[in-house]
Amino acid sequence: MIDNHNNNNNNIPSNHPRAKSLAIRELLVSGFTSGLVVSEGLIAHGRGEAFDYLLGEKTSTYAFDAIKAAASLLLLAERPVISVNGNTAALCPKDVVELANETGSLLEVNLFYRTNNREILIAEILKKNGASIVLGVGQKKFVKIPELTSNRRHVDSEGIFLADVVFVPLEDGDRTQALINMNKKVITIDLNPLSRTSQTATISIIDNIVRSIPELVKTAKQLKHMNKNSLLNILSNFNNQYNLDNSLRIIRGRSEL
Ligand code: ATP
Ligand code: MG
Repeated sequence: MIDNHNNNNNNIPSNHPRAKSLAIRELLVSGFTSGLVVSEGLIAHGRGEAFDYLLGEKTSTYAFDAIKAAASLLLLAERPVISVNGNTAALCPKDVVELANETGSLLEVNLFYRTNNREILIAEILKKNGASIVLGVGQKKFVKIPELTSNRRHVDSEGIFLADVVFVPLEDGDRTQALINMNKKVITIDLNPLSRTSQTATISIIDNIVRSIPELVKTAKQLKHMNKNSLLNILSNFNNQYNLDNSLRIIRGRSEL
């Protein structure tokens, strides 16, 4: 969560009207400087920011519903895996580790721009924040997802490859489709309700990752004491198309003169 990181944020006055947004940028810039984040990741964040502006920079009721469904699906899964890229590791490493602990999920590094150095850096930051095992590091255990050509096709044979539910915040559309084609359920966080990822995932949380991962942790803590039928009930009442349509409606409503 951004409040826990004070890296370069000292130059941003707390009463600045864009303080939160600037603090998020600072986290990414310091992630870029340390080699966690690639320059393309900074640009991808820019696309996300534009949608956040249009959404009013707050978690909508539809995103809260998606978070509840996502927490239920992770808790019901047999082999849930959380896929972590550079931007996610720079923005909310502590919350990602906590989410893995609360939902019994494995953590796997998965990078579009993959280098061994970045794999190691991301695994290190997750471990510094409490993770004991991080998959997706080193070549030996990788297998390829059918149909994909990008570096993201390499997945850990003990992680995403075997998972029944994969949580892929800030994902690329091609891989989301490929994971769905492998009969996996896919949860994403993506501020753009029109992206191929949002349109293809099983559950799309249309929200900023810095708000929704802490909220997912809180929700998982509440729901983990519920029985299986209650969790199944939450899932069957969730409709992703309705969620996407209404998220777009918020943007349309805010852009009308
Ligand atoms: P797709 O491949 O799914 O069509 P894309 O090519 O437009 O999407 P990518 O660069 O593949 O985009 O993925 C980045 C996605 O992450 C974008 O849709 C962007 O809106 C979203 N994003 C960036 N930063 C954040 C953030 N902080 N929180 C949530 N979503 C974000
Ligand atoms: Mg893409």
